[in-house]
Amino acid sequence: MSFKTDIEIAREAKKKPIMEIGANLGIPSEHLLPYGHDKAKVSQEFINSLDTREDGKLILVTAINPTPAGEGKTTTTVGLGDGLNKIGKNAVICIREASLGPNFGMKGGAAGGGYAQVVPMEEMNLHFTGDFHAITSAHNLLSAMIDNHIYWGNALEIDARRVVWRRVMDMNDRALRDTVTSLGGVANGFPRQTGFDITVASEVMAILCLAKDLEDLQSRLGDIVVAYTRERTPIYCRDIKADGAMTVLLKDAMQPNLVQTLENNPAFVHGGPFANIAHGCNSVIATRTALKLGDYVVTEAGFGADLGAEKFMNIKCRKAGIAPSAVVLVATVRAMKMNGGVAKADLGAENVEAVQKGCPNLGRHIANIKSFGVPVVVGINHFHSDTEAEIAAVQAYVAEQGAEAIVCKHWAHGSAGTEELAKKVVEMADSGSANFAPLYPDDMPLFEKVETIAKRIYHADAVIADKSVRAQLKTWEEQGYGHFPICMAKTQYSFSTDPNLRGAPTGHSVPVREVRLSAGAGFIVVICGEIMTMPGLPRTPAAENIRIGDAGHVEGLF
Ligand code: ADP
Ligand code: MG
Repeated sequence: MSFKTDIEIAREAKKKPIMEIGANLGIPSEHLLPYGHDKAKVSQEFINSLDTREDGKLILVTAINPTPAGEGKTTTTVGLGDGLNKIGKNAVICIREASLGPNFGMKGGAAGGGYAQVVPMEEMNLHFTGDFHAITSAHNLLSAMIDNHIYWGNALEIDARRVVWRRVMDMNDRALRDTVTSLGGVANGFPRQTGFDITVASEVMAILCLAKDLEDLQSRLGDIVVAYTRERTPIYCRDIKADGAMTVLLKDAMQPNLVQTLENNPAFVHGGPFANIAHGCNSVIATRTALKLGDYVVTEAGFGADLGAEKFMNIKCRKAGIAPSAVVLVATVRAMKMNGGVAKADLGAENVEAVQKGCPNLGRHIANIKSFGVPVVVGINHFHSDTEAEIAAVQAYVAEQGAEAIVCKHWAHGSAGTEELAKKVVEMADSGSANFAPLYPDDMPLFEKVETIAKRIYHADAVIADKSVRAQLKTWEEQGYGHFPICMAKTQYSFSTDPNLRGAPTGHSVPVREVRLSAGAGFIVVICGEIMTMPGLPRTPAAENIRIGDAGHVEGLF
């Protein structure tokens, strides 16, 4: 059987002018700042005017521990948004923007898939409205100003060996992971070792996604710790006096981008922080704007629910003062099989036993989400190769856990494939049964917060950390960062820190390798295992096949 590719389907989209999509949401044309005919930013002034309106209901889409291909969270977020509109509800979608660099490696697009996509897909995956370029510029302005400060006499007494602010670029380029700057003589400054991260790993990205408004943005940028003195006193971005100019560079990027689905329903696509060293959700400003304009807002959190949903609840919702009314947990038959021990190459063959063996992974995520006080429904993202018996096995298991699993065929049929899920979500959200609470209070000691996540969400026995890690956390508590939430950085493939330990492991421990302070974003990053903040390209990068085709279209992107 042959299927159209995502890009072929996206190209056939019958898009409406973006001003019309905005008008349907009640955004006056003077407050829509168009970027071409199919993208627009929403003005800050209009967003400010919404303050007194009531919020709609927030629906989070998350997933089980995934296969390397992804389980279709974005696809399901878009499909559910369309499904809700189809059954007559006023629903808005909120997803992340795509990073440009990985598209030239091997990653697929980030705009959904099949008949559940956001368009214009090519732009969304390339330069879009320039937000990531603005973030790159703002980040690197600070880098330049730090080295410039040292060059002109270093009045702040920055220890050049202790500059922690690196540079960023939106490209997969392993050659830049570790570099030496300022080579070439006196006129070029003091040589020092540093490196590049990919733009989505920048703290500026996380800050933009958590900031309430421009004022909050500037204050958070000012809080960034950029270096230390020889006495280990922190030097802040504010001390370098870069916060004002960075805010200027980010002024337009702070305004959410409005686009549409294949079915002409509104979608905000804004911000895109890494899901490991950052919290992995779209911007607070976009989500809050959507909540003012829609009765239901469907949004996605990156990775599996042990990371994505946990951070969504404990970081984003806590900080933004928002709360989900319902959660959709995306599961696929193939990921159940993978959690049941089947190798990637054998996922196509029916294997009910492996599905059943993988189900405890799903069961643990269901229980975890309920522990936040939010009702959950499982959405089985249907793949062509799924068999009736395999689907029945998942549904029977979920019923035993006191939840419901609904088969969704949005990838193949658009909103017609998610009507049942949409009705269930409305029923759950409207029931008022959600009673959201974060997992831990602000005032719990930092190490105890890590233990709480490890024990309650990962079902680990213990957290292992060197004395130096514990001492660092203590120091931050003394410096006034003790109220920060924790941002866990670990593998997305397992509840544990071992990517090969699938299913629902117990008896494992969580080794903490390193802790980092993101003082502007407002969280403590706890790193368990190897975390890559500058990806490389594969042996045969997708870029080799990307070109402008005969019809003038972009070819080979997806
Ligand atoms: P996630 O958000 O979980 O990373 P995506 O929604 O981006 O996953 O989907 C990952 C890829 O899988 C996309 O290329 C998408 O087209 C494809 N995909 C998603 N759902 C299906 C499905 N039901 N059948 C076939 N391919 C799918
Ligand atoms: Mg996604």
